[in-house]
Formats: sequence, C-alpha cells, structure tokens
Amino acid sequence: MSNTDKYDALIVGGGVGGTAIGALLAHSGYKIKLFDKNKIIGGRCTTYDHKGFKIDLGVHLFGVAENGYLGDVCRMIEMPNAIKWVIARNPRPILNYCGERKVYSRDTMSGMLGSKKKGKVNSDAKKKEKEAGSKFWSDCMNMPMDQIEDLYYTKLANFVSKYSKNPMLLMFAGQICMQYFCVDPFIASAGEFIRCFQQVTKAKSSAYPIGGCIAIPAAYADAIKKYGGEVQMDAKVSKIIIEDEQAKGVELEDGSHFESDLIISNADIQNTVLNLIGEKYFPSDYIERVKKLKYATHCMAIKVALDKVVTDQKLVMYIPVPFKESFKMMPKKGGKEPPEKFGGMITSPSNFDPALAPKGKQLIFFGSGCRPGLSQKEYERWGEGCMESLIECLPEIKGHVMWYRTDTPALVEQYAGEGGNIIGVAQTVKQIHERRPSQITPIKGLYIVGCEAGGHGIGTELAANSAMELAEILSETTIKT
Ligand SMILES: Cc1cc2nc3c(=O)[nH]c(=O)nc-3n(C[C@H](O)[C@H](O)[C@H](O)COP(=O)(O)OP(=O)(O)OC[C@H]3O[C@@H](n4cnc5c(N)ncnc54)[C@H](O)[C@@H]3O)c2cc1C
Repeated sequence: MSNTDKYDALIVGGGVGGTAIGALLAHSGYKIKLFDKNKIIGGRCTTYDHKGFKIDLGVHLFGVAENGYLGDVCRMIEMPNAIKWVIARNPRPILNYCGERKVYSRDTMSGMLGSKKKGKVNSDAKKKEKEAGSKFWSDCMNMPMDQIEDLYYTKLANFVSKYSKNPMLLMFAGQICMQYFCVDPFIASAGEFIRCFQQVTKAKSSAYPIGGCIAIPAAYADAIKKYGGEVQMDAKVSKIIIEDEQAKGVELEDGSHFESDLIISNADIQNTVLNLIGEKYFPSDYIERVKKLKYATHCMAIKVALDKVVTDQKLVMYIPVPFKESFKMMPKKGGKEPPEKFGGMITSPSNFDPALAPKGKQLIFFGSGCRPGLSQKEYERWGEGCMESLIECLPEIKGHVMWYRTDTPALVEQYAGEGGNIIGVAQTVKQIHERRPSQITPIKGLYIVGCEAGGHGIGTELAANSAMELAEILSETTIKT
C-alpha cells in the first residue's frame, strides 16, 4: 500500500515532544501527519482507564506548568487555555520527615540541618549548618544565568559540598534532583539543577492538568487537527526511509508508505538511529555517541484507589528515615530486593481533578526508583513495601484501600520504549547543554525531538522545550510546501 500524498513533515511518536512539534508546525502552516504505535496518545505522559479510575502511567507533577514551556506551546499555537491547570500550592505541600509533618519549603529544609554532638545539641554548630543550608538555597535562587551556565558541567554533589559536608543537605538536594531529572546528584548537572530550581520556585505554579496528564499531549494533538494536520494512532513506524543521504518518508508495520522530506522522530534517538534507520546511514562517530548515551533511572509506582476522600493533601514529600539510616531506602541484593522503606513524592491526582475517580472516591500515587528487568512478581513485592511505607506516611488511608496496582518499567516500555526509563536521555554533566545530542542529525531532513535531544527542563517540560527549539531551527529553513 502506498500513500501518494506528500507531507511537509511526518512525525514518528506522539509523546509530549512529538505532539508539541506537530502542533507548532501545523500552526505555522505545515501539512503534517503524526503516527503513534499506541491506541492512546502521550507516550510516558498518558492516562489509562482502570476500574472506573483514570490512572496516569507515571506519577506526575508539572514543575512550572502554565508559566513554563508546556504553557508556552499553547500560547505559541494561539490556544492559551487548551490545558486547564490546578495549582499544587493549596493546601501547601507537606514534607513528612520520619512521621513529622511540616510545610515543604526551603526554610523547613534549612532548619532541619542542625547537628547533634555526643547527644547534646551544639548550638554554634547547629547555627552554622543552618546558615550553610540557607546560603545554598538562596544562592540557587538568586544566581544569575551567566554563573549558572558556568556550572553546567559541574556535578551537583560537588557544588553542594562547597556549602556544607552535612549529608542532610546533600540528601535534600539529591531528593529534589531525583524528582527533577531521575539521576543521582553525583552525575547530575549543577547548572541544570539550579536553572530548573529557579524556574519552579520563582513561578510558584507547579500544577496538574484537569483530565489527567494525558490532557497535555491530547491538547497538542487537537491543535494538530485544528490546523489541518493528521494524527494516526495504532500506527507503528517500522522504517524511516533514507535515499541519497536524505530522509524521504516512513514505512508502517502494515506496509503502508508516507512521503516527506522532513521526518521528525520522537521515538527515542537510539531506536531511531539503530533500528528505524540503521547504522550504515550514519558516520561512525555519531553511532558511537548514540550507543553510549546514558538514560534516566526507572521507576515502579503504586496507584491506590480509596473508598472515600481521606485527605485533601495534593502533594506530600516523604522521607521515612533520618539521613543516618538512609541506607534503609536503598534496594537490596543488587537492586532485586525492595528497600526496607520507601520515600519520595506522593500525589493525589483526584484532589486536583475529582473526575479522575468515581464520585466520593480518592486516587493516590506513590513511586520509587528501581532497576529495570525484574519480573512482575518481583515488582509486586516492591509494591507491597511501597504500600507499607505509604500507610506509615498517611495512616489515615488505612482501612480505605479498595485496591492498588503496581506499574512497572515494563509498562512504561510498552507505552514509550527506551527500556521503560522515566525521562529519556539523562541530564548528566556529560549530556547537558552543548553536550546534549542535538535535534539536528547527520542525515538531511531527519530530526529528533523530545527528551532525547536538545532542550532543558524537567521531564515533560524538557520535551516541550526540545520541540520549541526545533520549531526555531526549522523556521530558518523553507521546507513547507
Ligand atoms: C513514572 C514516571 C513519572 C514521571 N514523572 C514526571 C513528572 O512528575 N513531571 C514531568 O514533567 N515528567 C515526568 N515524567 C517524565 C515525562 O513523562 C517524560 O519525560 C516525557 O513525557 C517524555 O516525552 P517525550 O516527548 O520524550 O516522549 P515519550 O513519552 O517517550 O513518547 C514517545 C512516543 O513515541 C511513540 N513511538 C515510539 N516508537 C514508535 C514507532 N516505531 N512508531 C510510532 N510511534 C512510536 C511511543 O508510542 C510514544 O508515544 C515521568 C515519567 C514516568 C514514566
């Protein structure tokens, strides 16, 4: 089967990056068609139905949301209200540290940096530690962009240690770093951390969309259609066709062909280069680089259905043990066995949008980093441990759990690929800013978009920013018919 229509651009993959570039180009007048292998849009940022609840594939909170790149895309395509956001600040997010609930803020974290010596509180040392913590957070908040740029290739842990060797400061910074980038602070970029931290803290607009996280890619996909483009679901691209060193079209699994001189892949840079195209079409140094890319970590997450609304909290950060016992949060037996205690981000999507749960019921998500490749049965054991920690953190849910399910990296792999990692190409010191793979590839007319190439920001915002940068790159060419 062959499709004789020629498109200005074909997009492989309907994650946030693919749908965002599709919307931006369709709005600019490109005749575009987007293919996604799944039946539902969004890749990692999707939402599925389960027993009357709407469940996100991930555990999502959107760092800057409306005031960041996700909102910028909407404004650029003249659909500023296409995504309806609910802010996470009401009620204020909580930090539950070893059972003690406090407001989650920089002041709270600095205040907890006091030290105890020989059982007695040493007030001078405590004051010094607090001051070091406050200085760290205020420097992160106020650093000008030229200084941030100088820190792109400095590891976050090294930057933190200049302020204090107190492991608790590193633990707090590391916790935020894991939430932002899903890489540990010993390889994460201090510059990218500070840039994102400033954006999130200054904008005060962390939020979640009405309709679940799928509302974001769905809004962009609607824009593609509104501006005359096409979105074809359940359409797996099996090959990107290259002729005379120029991208020429795509072939779907069902054998159909589509033509264009501009192919944009949102389907993972490694998969695109090594499988959908093939090594022989690229220079060897590019292949070497693509093969060596490091990806973000993986996650298992429990999705918990409650028979009534037991808390109005939208967001809780949980640290179950004092930093001296943080080894209890480490997985055992080389990562196969679950940790003794689970910590991290707990969200209640139905407190943002009650329609995500049947009337009067509540939905709670809690996730943790894990290694990929375990069996479903092994992950279920992780789920049980995660559930125990959730009840310790929010004892009010006890007796109200209707059911819970454990979503694993295998499920993320099924939706998005890339071995089911959380974000995409990791924002480490070796893969950030000018060291990040570019959207531009060595093949004419072939581009990469999403959390795989270019951009900056947290998760979905990185994907949207990658699309915005690509739209800018393409605006300097004249591919459009
Ligand atoms: C557990 C979890 C928690 C997360 N938490 C957050 C959070 O709190 N905040 C946040 O901002 N981000 C979070 N993220 C990260 C965020 O969801 C991702 O970084 C982002 O959605 C990736 O977008 P992307 O554009 O790179 O595309 P992806 O989501 O990777 O989408 C790629 C798309 O390409 C399609 N595709 C692949 N191959 C083919 C093919 N051959 N043919 C057709 N289609 C194909 C896939 O079906 C998929 O739809 C989380 C992710 C997970 C998994």
